[in-house]
Amino acid sequence: MMKKLLLPTSIVGSLPKPAWLAPPEKLWSPWKLEGDQLLEGKQDALRITLQEQELAGLDIVCDGEQTRQHFVTTFIEHLSGVDFENRKTVRIRDRYDASVPMVVGDVARQKAVFVEDAKFLRKQTNKPIKWALPGPLTMVDTLYDGHYKSREKLAWEFAKALNEEARELQDAGVDIIQFDEPAFNVFFDEVNDWGMAALERAVEGLNCETAVHICYGYGIQANTDWKKTLGSEWRQYEEVFPKIQKSKIDIVSLECHNSNVPLDLMELVRGKKVMVGAIDVATNTIETPEEVANTLRKALEFVDAENLYPSTNCGMAPLSRNVAKGKLSALSAGAEIIRKEYVG
Ligand SMILES: [Zn+2]
Repeated sequence: MMKKLLLPTSIVGSLPKPAWLAPPEKLWSPWKLEGDQLLEGKQDALRITLQEQELAGLDIVCDGEQTRQHFVTTFIEHLSGVDFENRKTVRIRDRYDASVPMVVGDVARQKAVFVEDAKFLRKQTNKPIKWALPGPLTMVDTLYDGHYKSREKLAWEFAKALNEEARELQDAGVDIIQFDEPAFNVFFDEVNDWGMAALERAVEGLNCETAVHICYGYGIQANTDWKKTLGSEWRQYEEVFPKIQKSKIDIVSLECHNSNVPLDLMELVRGKKVMVGAIDVATNTIETPEEVANTLRKALEFVDAENLYPSTNCGMAPLSRNVAKGKLSALSAGAEIIRKEYVG
């Protein structure tokens, strides 16, 4: 089914959480429930998120990251060797400070992190499901390492843990496993030296499809300010796309709509599937279907139609639920415009 449908739509990952689960419109929003109620609340939120994607007509669905407080730290907190009670404040991607867990010993994945959640999602829908995990380089950049004192060594340990998780997610029926690597847009030397190798280690032996999401971040102030310093052409993808082109990764998720990314950079991953960001997550303005269609039409100059996956620029966790819902519908309607043009 997934192979035949033209322009299958999906979101990058997160959606806003209901206000009864966590205070809305902020990152790292704390849970409002505890214990069994929290467990039940997360599952209920996941169901709502799924229903909203299905009602909007999305073709590939996900959990909307309803069971995670944050896309990186929630995975890290489940590993041994990590102290998440004594947090440290570090600078993320050289841009903003955040309170993060601390590595205090050898890191290892002693139990599954999201596998039960994935099984739960699998039971709720017959559509293809995509699951997002953080990438090794971005993980290393989102904690304080008081043990390995080597970003490379730590990334390699994370890659092993991610691979174990990914294999179990695949067995749970996940169709696409996506690794979020916004740090690939910042630390080019590390991507080159070991970041890409660590990502390849994370996907080793997988038979399901794999994706890497590389973006310019959530629509938070620190990211918006950073983007202003990047000039009229954002050429960051030029550094990493040739490496991805040579890798085993099947899908590249990139930021496009309202960005200064030169679209011809997509040519560098010709042959791969491309999740084109046709929804801006840094504005509350809901795109019109025509705007979405325009972005997709431009992308089609550089991406073969059968490889074009309409998507969002990044996660929508910090947006209001109404805005996010409107954006889901716009994505779906915009893709439909282009599909009709192809069918004729
Ligand atoms: Zn992103």
